[in-house]
Amino acid sequence: MEIKRYLVTSALPYANGPLHIGHLTGAYLPADIYVRFLRLTGKEVVWVCGSDEHGAAITVKARKENTTPGAIIDKYHEQLKMALAGMAIDFNIYHRTSEPIHHETSQDFFRTLYEKGEFQEIESQQYYDESAGQFLADRYIMGTCPKCGNPNAYGDQCEKCGSTLSPTELINPRSTLSGTIPVMKPTTHWYLPLNQHQEWLKTWIETGMLEGVKHHEPETWKPHVLGQCKSWLDSGLEPRSMTRDLDWGVDVPKEIPGSEGKKLYVWLDAPIGYISATKAWAATHHETWEKYWKDPETALIHFIGKDNIVFHCLIFPVILKSYGGYNLPINVPANQFMNLEGDKVSTSRNWAVWIHEYLEEWPGQQDLLRYYLIKTMPEQRDSEFTWKGFQEANNNELVNNLANFFNRVCVLLHKYYQGEIPAFNPDKAFVGTEEPDFDSFHETELLYLHDRIQDLNQSIREFRFRDALKSLMDMSSTGNSILQSNEPWKKEQSDPELIKVVINYCAQLATALSVVIRPFMPFTSDKMRAQLGLSPLRDEDELNQLLDALSQGEVLLPPGHKINEASHLFSRIEDARIQAQLDKLKRGAALSAPAPAVHVPLKETISIDDFNKTDLRAGTILTADRVPKADKLLHLTVDLGFEKRTILSGIAQHFQPEVLPGRRVVIVANLAPRKMKGIESNGMILLSENGDGSLRFVEPSDGAENGSVVK
Ligand SMILES: [Zn+2]
Repeated sequence: MEIKRYLVTSALPYANGPLHIGHLTGAYLPADIYVRFLRLTGKEVVWVCGSDEHGAAITVKARKENTTPGAIIDKYHEQLKMALAGMAIDFNIYHRTSEPIHHETSQDFFRTLYEKGEFQEIESQQYYDESAGQFLADRYIMGTCPKCGNPNAYGDQCEKCGSTLSPTELINPRSTLSGTIPVMKPTTHWYLPLNQHQEWLKTWIETGMLEGVKHHEPETWKPHVLGQCKSWLDSGLEPRSMTRDLDWGVDVPKEIPGSEGKKLYVWLDAPIGYISATKAWAATHHETWEKYWKDPETALIHFIGKDNIVFHCLIFPVILKSYGGYNLPINVPANQFMNLEGDKVSTSRNWAVWIHEYLEEWPGQQDLLRYYLIKTMPEQRDSEFTWKGFQEANNNELVNNLANFFNRVCVLLHKYYQGEIPAFNPDKAFVGTEEPDFDSFHETELLYLHDRIQDLNQSIREFRFRDALKSLMDMSSTGNSILQSNEPWKKEQSDPELIKVVINYCAQLATALSVVIRPFMPFTSDKMRAQLGLSPLRDEDELNQLLDALSQGEVLLPPGHKINEASHLFSRIEDARIQAQLDKLKRGAALSAPAPAVHVPLKETISIDDFNKTDLRAGTILTADRVPKADKLLHLTVDLGFEKRTILSGIAQHFQPEVLPGRRVVIVANLAPRKMKGIESNGMILLSENGDGSLRFVEPSDGAENGSVVK
């Protein structure tokens, strides 16, 4: 199959938190290098991405921040978009899954698969919160981890030991909505029978053959990606639920019986987000989206982190093939994880380098971070970001090698040739090398440069970006050693003809670097070209033009071309700045660590008569409403059996009023009335307060009637 064009996708970042280095080096930076390279070689390519705005993690975050899911996705979509743009991650479109076109596209997929009989309806028992009146998504259930004993593990994962869990494995499960113990209740969902697709998936992944036609070359896939797919396939695929009982997400199409209260599983709709993003892009660019998804001459490539391999290599291909007419990915160059200073990057523990903070604290230094993240990119195995390594990469490599070479060339051009590329005598004999004359030295070096660039390009085509970056820096090292061995600063007087050919060649090398560097460090490319008196690259096949010229031994900058003023591309970073970052990282992590349990001292002793003055009664909350202009108060009506009480309680920041009706409570029934916000409160709800400030209702035992005395 001949590749006519490319459709590149990057994993949709989840809109419930900011972007960190792990995200950037996982799915965005590698795709940016690859896409910039394709554009520079004149290839037709569209690169799509966007915010993933569905799933329980959004609603969990909204509850935590005491706001709506809509406010959460708006806030983080904007933040993600700005951070990615700030790092020059150059998508054709950065879309979002809350857009109507995405809901329509996802529902069309669901409807079509439903009508084609691709789903199985399966009833299962799931945890249900009776007081909240809803099924609990995995993230809404917490309990004790069966593996490490962490009392705060989630239904899908323990963040302490990293184990993947299912809600039924948790010991002492509790609902995060109400703190109550959930019950099991039957619910019906639509499952994708992955087991029925096992055979063709295995053949497709392992041999690249799809319906008897060669589709891709498995030997070009990363070993760890193939390994993970193989392990899933070997252990046998099972039907996977494509819907959830949730109140946030894409609705199961209304006309499907039983659709009420059901949403599409976030991992069904998120990859479809690539398609809706392509549709949105095509609509504003006079293009048809179909040719990017359905023409077999379009190569589809997914850039992701390793935690998403199963979704992109197995589940999404099944969805696309079941729908029919769509291309499958020809490669999924997933990256592994990047650790930070000896520990896993963690949002919840605030152990991260946040991109929006980096952009503020290191203004104009995007290429430095890009360089270090590419150099340490977790291509085949997990890697490590250290601030010391970041400093060394800057000082030893960018400053001492790249910036030093480039600056020396520009300074020497100004010093000896008034900023103009010198002509040299082609027939002059070269002393001390194999070359017979200057012309053949110059041409040999240009051909050598051509071959090095070919090697670099091959590394990019094979998704070996670390190797490609190393080739780039080797080219700069070569330039430095040519200068070092010929010593223009000494020999310009004694051997001016030699120094002319040396500086001429180094100027050609610097120009080639300004092109080749663009996929890795676009800002530096622009700076280099400005100093060389060249216009910025326009992504119009400049790389192939460069290779053509070099292979012919043609110069890139002709004699007489005038360059601009020289300035440094990178400058040294002092230890104090690195120490400040390390201190900040540790301070931030300490601040987000859970506070140690506070033991509240006991109050002074009272007599039994003192206690007996308090009249405690069991009751049930009937209604709960917010109080206008009082963000802490809830207006409750409590059934005491013999009467209904109005009670104002300062719990609005701990409980959503909607989930309270039906809750059993214990109240102080003989407290003197008190008026707040124009409402008279008659009593007080009893609550226990945990060390972290969270509140739990004191509940009467089962069978305690409303109005019964608690003593
Ligand atoms: Zn655990």
